[in-house]
Amino acid sequence: TDSGRPRHLTILGSTGSIGVNTLDVVRQLGGRDAFEVMALTGNGNIELLAQQARETGAKLAVTADESQYMTLKDALSGSGVDVAAGVSGLDEAASLEAEWVMAAIVGTAGLAPTLKAASRGADIALANKECLVSAGELFVEAVRAGGGRLIPVDSEHSAIFQCLDNDQRHALERIVLTASGGPFRTHSREQMANVTVETARTHPNWSMGLKISVGSASMFNKALEMVEAKHLFGLRPDQVEVIVHPQSIVHSMVGYSDGSVIAQLGAPDMRTAIGYALTYPKRPKLDVERLDFAKLARLDFEAPDEKRFPALRLARTALERGGVQAAVMNAAEETAFNAFVASRIGFLGMAEIVEEVMERLISLPPARTIAEVFAADSEARRTAVQVIAIREQAA
Ligand code: NAD
Ligand code: MG
Repeated sequence: TDSGRPRHLTILGSTGSIGVNTLDVVRQLGGRDAFEVMALTGNGNIELLAQQARETGAKLAVTADESQYMTLKDALSGSGVDVAAGVSGLDEAASLEAEWVMAAIVGTAGLAPTLKAASRGADIALANKECLVSAGELFVEAVRAGGGRLIPVDSEHSAIFQCLDNDQRHALERIVLTASGGPFRTHSREQMANVTVETARTHPNWSMGLKISVGSASMFNKALEMVEAKHLFGLRPDQVEVIVHPQSIVHSMVGYSDGSVIAQLGAPDMRTAIGYALTYPKRPKLDVERLDFAKLARLDFEAPDEKRFPALRLARTALERGGVQAAVMNAAEETAFNAFVASRIGFLGMAEIVEEVMERLISLPPARTIAEVFAADSEARRTAVQVIAIREQAA
């Protein structure tokens, strides 16, 4: 279109926190007059999915949960929206000809449909960081082979993307990922041992889905982001730094060989990064909060503590070991997160389980294909389930 914006959009994971924010940005930029929504997908939240599909006039609505197919079908009867379900439904959604696809499913469940959209050449707006953590170079290669762009939506990676001047890549020294530190930034390990899911999910600055909120509390989210950054920007492990910045105003920074550091700042609102991914290389006009520096008064920074937040050390280990260690870390973390949410393990148990699974699977060979990535992912989940069961027996 003249505005340089894509016209046909698909949102994988439209009912989640990123999905809802994406639809808000779409509405702010003109809604149905400016865009055609091809497919929307969700999992359990059928009512919201049906409402989104009706409002946007989507061609296709998909629930990942097969058992919800008839419920979705009923909710959309007479609307003209096609309905599908399950893995094949997600594949169908990813296959529809949308030139821009928001990848906002949570976890490895998003990998297959995102790869499908990438390989047919869609521009991928990537929120679903687990794709890059588990498939790494193979994912980047799939996007490259498809011919579309990979535009980060994760706020830190969007910030780096906005600060990187491609003509100065030779002078890039390091990137500095900011981390809020989450709700337990000042907790001792003893205090963290007994926290509940309800406190772990209450992020001080951002309102997000459950997994990433708990991941912010454990800093596993930052661990995943370290790996994500390496692959997105083609960095060596030693070029990826993390700094705790409790206000979440500086979204991340890029350091160059002349000592300059370029940062991107903004209110903690994902719509800025989503809008950038939707209109790149232009910038949209968005109704989001503007920073008031006098009111902010100060920005704080502190070194991360890897004793209290072992996730950061595990990410560095995974980056240094290479191969499928990051895929193993990601799959073990997702399994351990599910066990924490089910109250089967404590908060600190998550990192212990991930570390044990990474050690047990240290000699898995590197993946040459996506099928081998999925195999390593499954192996890590099985191993994590075993490790959790052994801990339960011992307790
Ligand atoms: P969320 O839990 O709010 O939403 C997840 C979406 O995925 C929902 O639409 C849900 O229905 C769908 N889904 C869940 N399980 C599924 C399955 N098995 N198969 C198919 N679909 C499934 O999550 P979110 O916070 O929106 O995060 C989505 C992704 O974006 C995550 O990878 C997260 O790390 C990343 N991200 C989120 C934020 C944020 O502010 N929320 C910021 C940066 C990155
Ligand atoms: Mg982030």
